[in-house]
Amino acid sequence: MAEQFQLRLADSFMLAPSVRHLSFERVDGQPLTFVPGQFLQVHFAYDDGKPTKRSYSVGTVGDGSSPVQRIEIAVSYVEGGAATKLLSELPHEGVIDASGPYGRFCLMDGDTNKRYILIATGTGVTPYRAMLPQIEALIRDRGCEFVLLYGARNEGELLYGEEFEAFARQHPGFVFHPCLSRGARPNPRPHDRLGYVQSVLAELEPRADGDIAYLCGNPNMVDASFAALKEAGLAVQHIRREKYISSR
Ligand SMILES: Cc1cc2nc3c(=O)[nH]c(=O)nc-3n(C[C@H](O)[C@H](O)[C@H](O)COP(=O)(O)OP(=O)(O)OC[C@H]3O[C@@H](n4cnc5c(N)ncnc54)[C@H](O)[C@@H]3O)c2cc1C
Repeated sequence: MAEQFQLRLADSFMLAPSVRHLSFERVDGQPLTFVPGQFLQVHFAYDDGKPTKRSYSVGTVGDGSSPVQRIEIAVSYVEGGAATKLLSELPHEGVIDASGPYGRFCLMDGDTNKRYILIATGTGVTPYRAMLPQIEALIRDRGCEFVLLYGARNEGELLYGEEFEAFARQHPGFVFHPCLSRGARPNPRPHDRLGYVQSVLAELEPRADGDIAYLCGNPNMVDASFAALKEAGLAVQHIRREKYISSR
């Protein structure tokens, strides 16, 4: 159930030139109970005092079951953005108002599929980072396969890329395809692909009888991938979507 709470910035670093990883703790000292894939809302006011809020996916890698003390988000800066100003300038120990968790973009008990196709652009990869312990359990307990197609313009914008690479090395059931839209990186890796995620999708030969897909991030990418997966025959309830649109 969603709660209201304050968050204090405990740590932060730049993930990419215009993406900041922020790690918070609740001011009341309580842990956050959330299901990987859910998001928080940050509440603040415009310069004229009018209240507003923005949503951010929780990216914390917990142990898969317990609540977490650290609440991690990745914020991609938008030029002229109100939340961008707040979260890019927030100093360590700075406090913000928040509420959550919200959303149903989560792995679901009761699914019997063989393979999950996870697709993201930009900060849309953070829900999958939070899901890694559940993904590990699904590979181990149900023999599931996972393929992550992660779209970025270049290597520098592959957020948490080395974490996903390391997870893929440790878990043969997890394949990570960085999809680079502005050309190959200086030292290409075997699973790299060139182009947009939706064009790489065809290579996976999505199947209605074995696949469930998750799409997160840029709304145009989500729409294009949704259309391609529907065309491939996947049922709409097997194509789960989270669009990162501004909620002003
Ligand atoms: C469920 C959900 C989860 C989300 N999770 C994340 C997350 O984990 N990380 C994250 O960075 N964002 C996430 N977002 C987007 C986030 O909530 C804000 O919309 C985003 O940070 C921009 O807010 P802002 O106040 O800085 O910009 P605004 O003041 O809302 O917008 C400023 C200007 O930029 C334009 N604009 C807004 N967003 C974009 C964009 N993405 N690209 C180009 N132009 C834009 C607006 O139209 C406006 O002209 C999520 C959105 C949703 C709905």
